[in-house]
Amino acid sequence: MPDLPILPTTVVGSHAKPGWWHQCKDLVNAGERGQTDLDELLTDAVDIAILDQERAGIDIITDGESRRLDGYVDGFYDIIKGIIPNPPKRKAGPWGYDQQKRYEAVDKIDVPEYGLGIIAEFEYLKTHTSKATKVCAPGPLTFGSRIKPNEHYASTVAVAERFANVINVELKALVKAGATFIQIDEPARGNVTGQEMARLFNMATEGVEAKLAFHICFGNRYGRSRFKRDYADYFPGALDARADQFVLEFASRFMGNLPQWKEWSDGRELGAGIIDVKSFYPETPEDVAGRIHEVLRYADAEKVYLNPDCGFGWSPRYIALAKLKALAEGAKLARQQLSG
Ligand SMILES: [Zn+2]
Repeated sequence: MPDLPILPTTVVGSHAKPGWWHQCKDLVNAGERGQTDLDELLTDAVDIAILDQERAGIDIITDGESRRLDGYVDGFYDIIKGIIPNPPKRKAGPWGYDQQKRYEAVDKIDVPEYGLGIIAEFEYLKTHTSKATKVCAPGPLTFGSRIKPNEHYASTVAVAERFANVINVELKALVKAGATFIQIDEPARGNVTGQEMARLFNMATEGVEAKLAFHICFGNRYGRSRFKRDYADYFPGALDARADQFVLEFASRFMGNLPQWKEWSDGRELGAGIIDVKSFYPETPEDVAGRIHEVLRYADAEKVYLNPDCGFGWSPRYIALAKLKALAEGAKLARQQLSG
């Protein structure tokens, strides 16, 4: 991994997609684009994600999850065996989480031999940037919580355990392929304790020899939160996870829970969310430096990484670009203040 500055900047996973990416998705769905068209389109989108992050000056980059044509997790359901879609009960009216695609288990859940496809995503990324990289994978609960267990699994947690095994195989292969920094994304669901989330995280990452980050997410679909936004419901229990770093959302919550992080941190690193991805307001570098200053009241600078609250998958690209630039420039300001 290239040398990193103090307070390294990174992203939480997804990058904002170009306008044509969304248009081509419709064309593919309508059968007007073939597999070769699609491969070219997605590779172009990944190249743009890499370039955007590099030009903004981000230290650790991802592939923008730009090959995941149907969101950071939804596309995976298409290749998972043993489940069928379950139409939402509400289709009319404003978009909401009750309109998300859901599934039910009709057999033992399995994935194709090539796995979830994250290894191919990483292989491309590592050969197309000289920057440090991070790979993000949905966690067991992210996968499991949208699948009704039926009689095939005892509970949602049992479905999540099945996915922990699937993810574990994928992560071990990622490490073999050279991944050194892996992030697991899990929802803060409220009905699963921090200890239980940690247990599933540990199942998914058992024997995975890489730097491990744990993003606990309040939801960001269409720029909306889903869950009660208080990390006190999950910490200190979540510290049972063998995560080196917790990636948490602060900017959109007036930096709430930061004072508690001082008690919770347990020497662990903090991936501090200091860019509000849900807002159209373009933070200035000074805003960002101010938030970093706030974070450093409660966390040791050596243990802090800087990132947006969540992915940019639901942001227009021009807004994401402005925010990424502000993140990189605000980090530079904060480093100057630290060394001065
Ligand atoms: Zn998130």
